[in-house]
Order: sequence, then structure tokens, then C-alpha cells
Amino acid sequence: MENLLDGIEDILLMGPGPSCVHDKVYEALGKKSIGHLDPYFIRIMDAIKANLRTLLKTENTLTIPMSGTGSSGMEACFVNLIEEDDPVLVLINGVFGMRMQDVAQRLRANVDTLEFDWGTPVVVDQVKKKISEKQYKIVAVVHAETSTGVKNPVAEIGALLKGSETIYLVDAVTSLGGVEIAMDAWGIDALYSGTQKCLSCPPGLAPLSFSDKAVAALESRKTKVPNWYLDLSMIMKYWKGATRAYHHTAPINMHYGLYQALLLILEEGPDNVYQRHMTYHNALVQGLEDMGLSMLVAPDSRLPMLNSVNVPEGVDEAAVRSTLLKQYKIEIGAGLGPLAGKIWRVGLMGHTARQENVTRLLAALKSTLS
Ligand code: PLP
Repeated sequence: MENLLDGIEDILLMGPGPSCVHDKVYEALGKKSIGHLDPYFIRIMDAIKANLRTLLKTENTLTIPMSGTGSSGMEACFVNLIEEDDPVLVLINGVFGMRMQDVAQRLRANVDTLEFDWGTPVVVDQVKKKISEKQYKIVAVVHAETSTGVKNPVAEIGALLKGSETIYLVDAVTSLGGVEIAMDAWGIDALYSGTQKCLSCPPGLAPLSFSDKAVAALESRKTKVPNWYLDLSMIMKYWKGATRAYHHTAPINMHYGLYQALLLILEEGPDNVYQRHMTYHNALVQGLEDMGLSMLVAPDSRLPMLNSVNVPEGVDEAAVRSTLLKQYKIEIGAGLGPLAGKIWRVGLMGHTARQENVTRLLAALKSTLS
């Protein structure tokens, strides 16, 4: 019988995620499964919690990986915090802000939005004005908007909300492991991420962290969390304490992968990892500009790990991506929504952010375009 796995090629992943995975993470994923209540597995769980806290610069006890991809982290944050008619403000400048709005509306929250042009950041003064007009239970923003390559001013928005009763919710799916996050110092109350971006692990887990304020909001709900699988009040009992209560079977080997991926970042040193992202982002932008290409986002708001490149007039952007994939074994991403057909999205996430990858992509792009 044909085994399709034999046909998997070695593709250089330079799109918006998944990113390249370190061999040590692949080795970790292939280790023998043990039981999800085995004391040795519980030691691994505890180490993952501690290492996530270090990376997020937080003391939050409730810091765990949720089963599922980044979207499960998003759903988990909203479903545990929202009750019907709760006033929620979502700041939108791309696909993932829109997804937050959709998730919050499905939970029957009373959702207001502030929208900004795609490719530009959230404007802090507009947020300041909006929150002075109405008291929100939650203000939500995406740190690294993967659909555009924009970094939003998460620390500055946090400063506006400090001391208020509002819960500050941040999407760190693409930012975690690629740029600094200081969850406690920035006043973030609820945060989620994903494994397949700058953590350089395959997709499958969603790191999540709740501050004491967010936990208090969860504990003082008038109604049950309307989703069994993502109910943190039950999941918490599996992740803390001397005795662990079964909720659902943890995806054991994915946790091995995340454990190893976090170890690699902590061993290299988070600041060195962020600097590496910045160095190869600068090298990529320089190389693209030398070829006559331009970037969508202004330098001050550019993400190092997600580079949006304007497609030159008259170039068939899909054909270029297809040639890069088929001929050069390099994946890059397309634009989404209003940016479809207008940009390419080049990822330099985690293990992908290396000089040899930048050099290989620039050479392949140059010969494809010519
Ligand atoms: N938020 C952001 C900023 C993302 O980039 C993504 C995925 O690309 C998600 C949320 C959703 O994550 P997932 O596709 O892993 O469910």
C-alpha cells in the first residue's frame, strides 16, 4: 500500500506559520508516550508552566497550554471571561482582530470595535478616547497581526487600562518567542498563543495565561462556562495541586515538543532569540529593497517575524508563490482579505529566522521575478 508520508518533502517554511521545527523538537515528539497522569508527565507539565511563565515574564499561576491550536486559546479566553451582554471592545486591524470580534459575538457579548487600516497599527489615543466614553469588561487586541505584519502597541494600551476593572486580553500567537512580552509589567490579564509560530513547534497547543484578576472574573461568573472542553475552572484541576483530576486526555507528545521548544529558547536566551529575529528581519528587508521591492508596513510598526512585501505591478503573485514552492521548495504566504493579491507574507519565525534561509529566499525570489 502506498504510504503518503514517504512523499513529504523538506519544505523551507517561510510563510505565516507553521515555521521550521528544530530537529530536537522532532526528536521530542517521537519519544515514547506515557500516561497523562504519570508522575513523570506531571513533572514535564510543571516545567512547561514554569518555562512559559519565564518567557511571558509573569507570575500568573494559571499559565498552561490548552489542547488545540491558537484559535482554541482565543476561544478559551473569551468563553471563560464573557457572559451574555458583557461590554467588550475589540481593536481591529486585520484578520485576527476580526476573528476575536466573531468569537465574542457568538458568545452574545455586547461588542464594540475600533477599526484601523490594515497595514497600520492601533492608534493609542483613539483607544484612550473610546475607553473614556464607556466602561468595558474586556478590551482585546492582537499583538502581532499576522495578516498584515503590524506590531500593535500592546504595552501602551496596557498602560491606559492599568488600575481599571477592565480585563486586558492579548493575542500573542505570532509574537510569543519572537519579540519581548512582559505580561505583568504591561498589565495583560489574559493572553493566548500558539506553538507553530516563533516557538517553532508543530501546531497543536495554545499557551494561555490568566492574571489573578482574570481568574477572579472566571470564579465570579453568574453562569457556567458555556463550553465543556475549554472550561478553565475544570482544566485548572488537572494542571495544579498535589492530586491531578482528569479532564481530557492531554496530547502527551505535543507537550514533549512544547517542552523541548521552550527549553531551546531559554537555553539560547530570550533576548538573544529576539535579537536574532530582528537581525534577519533587517537582512531580509535590505535584500528585498535592494531588489527594488517595498514593504507594506512602516518601519516603526513592522514585525520582525512576519514581513509583508508589496507585489510589484503586473506580477502574478500566486504564480511566484507556486514557483517558489515547486522549484525552490520554499513556502511563503499570500495576502488575506483586502490585501489578497497585493502582498506576500514572508515569515521569519523561530527556527526559520536564520541567515541561510534569508539568503536562499532572496536568491529564489530574484530568479523567479526575473
Ligand atoms: N491569532 C493570530 C495572530 C494568528 O496568526 C493565528 C493563526 O495564524 C491565530 C490567532 C489562530 O491560530 P490557529 O490557526 O493556530 O488556530
